[in-house]
Order: sequence, then structure tokens, then C-alpha cells
Amino acid sequence: MEIGFIGLGKMGFPMARRLIEAGHKLTVFDTQKAAMDRLVALGAKAGTSVKEIADEVETVMASLPSLQASLDVATGKGGVIEGKRVKRFIDLSTIGSQMAVRIHDLLKARNIVQLDSPVSGGVGGAEKGTLAVMVSGPRADFEAVKDALGVIGKVFFIGEKPGSGQTMKLANNFLSATAMVATSEAVVMGVKSGLDPAVMVDVINAGSGMNTASRDKFPKSVLPRSFDFGFATGLMVKDVRLALEEMKQLGLSMEVAEAVGRLWEVVIRDQGAESDFTAAIKPIEKAAGVVVGGSGKGSHAAK
Ligand code: NAD
Repeated sequence: MEIGFIGLGKMGFPMARRLIEAGHKLTVFDTQKAAMDRLVALGAKAGTSVKEIADEVETVMASLPSLQASLDVATGKGGVIEGKRVKRFIDLSTIGSQMAVRIHDLLKARNIVQLDSPVSGGVGGAEKGTLAVMVSGPRADFEAVKDALGVIGKVFFIGEKPGSGQTMKLANNFLSATAMVATSEAVVMGVKSGLDPAVMVDVINAGSGMNTASRDKFPKSVLPRSFDFGFATGLMVKDVRLALEEMKQLGLSMEVAEAVGRLWEVVIRDQGAESDFTAAIKPIEKAAGVVVGGSGKGSHAAK
């Protein structure tokens, strides 16, 4: 099918690439020209603006880095909302249910359907087409794009209620955020006491403590100290804040979530929004006076 794709970053690029490889006709747009060039080289048409794309295709997908970017691209001046041909806007970004509902309402007034479709599984999942895709919106529109979304991952229909895909995604990312900081605290505890972190991670992964941080993030990006998993701390903190807001809005006070939220605020203050989120271990190491992993493989105390 003909698809417009806006936002060609860490997630958008591999998702758009897979859609091209599956035979879909893509027109792409990103504020960074270099990001567009990479896809044009693979056969995509370069769009000149969001509006131009929405004038030409019925289905527009987006993978954008902030709530404001999704709001602007969908409903701002020169946005999808002004397109002549567009019928549906599929937002693959994580923006929380309140923003999703706001965008849904604005688009609905112009007869454009929003399919809220946040994804989970990271850059690796986007490259392999193994993301979890959590779609909410009208069932008929979901059916119309289900096969195309199947190219980027396993597609789940969460419900017709606007924003419910986002609620699902925030529950998932709260767990991912928790796994990262909880595993960091567990491994730092072991290293402080003299255990080898590589052995610890192997044991955890053979035992009941296994989680996505111990299984994927520690072996790839923490133990080698490359901190290059491909998800920015700023984006993780955005998701944790959105999860806390969602809980508050539902009248819930969640103790684990609040502690996890406080820890991630320390990480963003200490490491900055652009750091990779696996750097979450660094302030925990600093407070304990140890360094985990590195070229020596084993543990060593910080000087
Ligand atoms: P990114 O910063 O790498 O990419 C965003 C892209 O959007 C950039 O290329 C940027 O130039 C472009 N952009 C920004 N504003 C724009 C605008 N107004 N018009 C057109 N292009 C614009 O971010 P990412 O890591 O790819 O994440 C995108 C979304 O996916 C976020 O909502 C994030 O939370 C979510 N997500 C990311 C991951 C991950 O592992 N990186 C996993 C799951 C979900």
C-alpha cells in the first residue's frame, strides 16, 4: 500500500526500511535531511513536507521523539490534519493516553482516523520486525492496516477506546524501566561485596531473577561498558513520567512506580537526556563507589 512515514530516527528508519522491503510504496519525511537520504537510497520517495504527504496518501505513519512533535505533525499548521487525501494517522510513538486522546479528538473533527500504535522491542526489534505493536482505534481501520503493521512486528488490537494502546505501552515500559534500575542495584550490590558481575548476570539469567535488563541490556551494553543499546535516557524518562501521570489520573498511588520514577530523575540529572538509558547504572555505581564490568571483565572498585 501507499504509506507516508514521518520521523526516521532510531526506530523510524528500520521500520520504514522493512515496509519498503515488503513492497509498500513509501513517501518519507524527517526534519533531518540525512535521515531521509538513507531511505531514498532504499527506494523511498522524499516528501517535502508533512502536508504534501497527507495530500497524496491515505495512510500516514509517524515515529516521533516527543509529545509536542506528535501533536505538531498530526494537528499543527502544515500537519496531517490539513491533508487532502489522508484517511488515517498511525502514531507509532509513545505519547501517553492523554495526548493520544487530544490528537484523536482534533483529527476526528476533520474525519481523519487516529490509530494509536506504540511499539515495544527496541531498535533490535524494529530491525528484525519483532516489535510488539499495540493498536487502538476503530476496528475497520485496524483491519485495513493490520498486514502492513505485521511487517514491523506482532500486532495486538488493544481496543477501540482512544489512547488505550498508550496505556498498554506505558505498563510495559514501566516494567522495562524498573528492570533496568532494579538489575543495576542488584549487580552493584554484588560487585560491592566482591562478586564478578559477568557471573552474576549468567546466574540471574539461569535463575528466577531473569528480566529484559539482565537478558539483553547487561550483556550487550552494560558489562562491556559500551552504553549503546539505542534508547535515549530522555525517552525512557518521558515514558516513566507518562506512566506516573496515567496512574495519578486513575487515582492510583503506586509505591514501586514512584521509587522507580525518582531513580530515573536522578539518572537524567546525572547522565543527561541524550545518554543511552543503559547508563542508568552509573549514578548507582557512583553512590556505591564501584564500577561494573569493563575490559577487565570482572568487578573492580572505583578509585
Ligand atoms: P529518535 O530521536 O531517534 O527519532 C526521531 C526522529 O524524528 C528524528 O529523526 C527527528 O529528526 C525526527 N523528527 C523530530 N521532529 C520532527 C518533525 N516535526 N517532523 C519530522 N521529523 C521529526 O527517536 P526514536 O528512538 O526513534 O523514538 C521514536 C519514538 O519511538 C519515541 O516516542 C520513543 O519513545 C518510541 N520508542 C523508541 C524505542 C527505542 O528503543 N528507541 C523503542 C520503543 C518506542
